[in-house]
Amino acid sequence: MSGHTITVIGSGFAAMTAVHELRKRDKNSRITVISPRPEFIYLPSLIWIPSGIRKADDLRIPLEKFFTRMKVEHVAAEVTGLKDGGRSVETSAGEIRNDALIIASGGRFIKKLPGIEHSITPCEGIPAAEKIRDRLNEMEGGTIAIGFGGNPNEPSAMRGGPMFEFLFGIDTLLRMQKRRNKFKLIFFNPAPQPGARLGPRAVKGLLSAMQQRGIDTHLGHKMKGFETNKIITEGGEFNADLILFMPGMTGNQWFDNSELPRSEGGLIKADQYCRVPGFTHTYVAGDSGSFPGPDWMPKQAHMADLQARAAVTNLLDELEDKEPSTGFKVELMCIVDSVNRGMLVIRTPQRNIMLPANRLLHWTKRFFEWWYLKQYR
Ligand SMILES: Cc1cc2nc3c(=O)[nH]c(=O)nc-3n(C[C@H](O)[C@H](O)[C@H](O)COP(=O)(O)OP(=O)(O)OC[C@H]3O[C@@H](n4cnc5c(N)ncnc54)[C@H](O)[C@@H]3O)c2cc1C
Repeated sequence: MSGHTITVIGSGFAAMTAVHELRKRDKNSRITVISPRPEFIYLPSLIWIPSGIRKADDLRIPLEKFFTRMKVEHVAAEVTGLKDGGRSVETSAGEIRNDALIIASGGRFIKKLPGIEHSITPCEGIPAAEKIRDRLNEMEGGTIAIGFGGNPNEPSAMRGGPMFEFLFGIDTLLRMQKRRNKFKLIFFNPAPQPGARLGPRAVKGLLSAMQQRGIDTHLGHKMKGFETNKIITEGGEFNADLILFMPGMTGNQWFDNSELPRSEGGLIKADQYCRVPGFTHTYVAGDSGSFPGPDWMPKQAHMADLQARAAVTNLLDELEDKEPSTGFKVELMCIVDSVNRGMLVIRTPQRNIMLPANRLLHWTKRFFEWWYLKQYR
């Protein structure tokens, strides 16, 4: 294959899988990765920061060695916009031109609810997870409320699984510390059946786990906002000393400074081949994109990887004047961890499996992290 210049935006799950796949299939192209820092953050293990199972440096993987092996040029910059039908990426370090582009800069949380600053958004990254750890250490008792919302314009643009993990993980941690009796835990969600995208079997399992653990629920009431130590919903308000809330997701700010087609929820529109309609040689993978498929299609690292592989195959085909034809599997697969046990949830168009919590699944999740990160070390 001839030496094209291919730019990848981001250095998260979709972006790094795309780089791996690109280099495997095309030894000659020049690959440029644009992201603020040459590092990969393993977000799924943020849930283990409050309990001390993981520290920041365990989850922040420097990518310099991986980039050298993959012959990647890394530009440490923020993307600020896109011009020329995708051929020119505007960044905080200047303009970067390409023959082909893969957008994988993840998502952004919608921070519109009044008073949202009184809550911690755990999935924003390592500092947020550390803040939860520090607050838990300081607290001698009280109420902890944990919940998540969605994007009203795009039901799939949300992430609920990790909030169940924070909820069950904090419950287990307090029990291990023998002080669970000093705390009240409340799970809140505007949906009457929270976690419905994990499948009906999972919802039943999650709600019954809450009941067994003595976790109160406040379900089925639209969120109105927050005040210091207060959650306000259309179905009433309640107090909490620590509020963890994950809002729905939307597209990155920089998408506004481009002509990229956007979905109702603000993500980049993609077709079944991860191609951005109306653009040539321009693909999107992972949380940045809005893809055709079932409404339960997850915003997950596993999906991001599947999409990135399809995007690379199709992009290389397009560069060789072939019609893109590779789709991606839609598959939800996760272990909902609770610090010492894990519950397996699998959903595909054909089946929905939920294995009850056990210790082996917790260790499987830890093993998977080690195995996944090995490729970047
Ligand atoms: C607590 C938690 C637990 C999770 N658990 C699981 C799980 O068990 N299983 C699972 O499959 N998924 C899980 N996920 C979801 C998973 O982490 C995401 O779906 C995945 O990270 C999406 O990959 P991505 O490549 O699209 O985005 P990201 O991994 O978020 O990467 C985005 C990249 O883009 C970069 N970027 C952002 N803005 C710009 C810009 N303007 N310019 C340049 N670069 C930019 C970022 O620095 C980053 O490198 C979890 C997420 C969280 C937060």
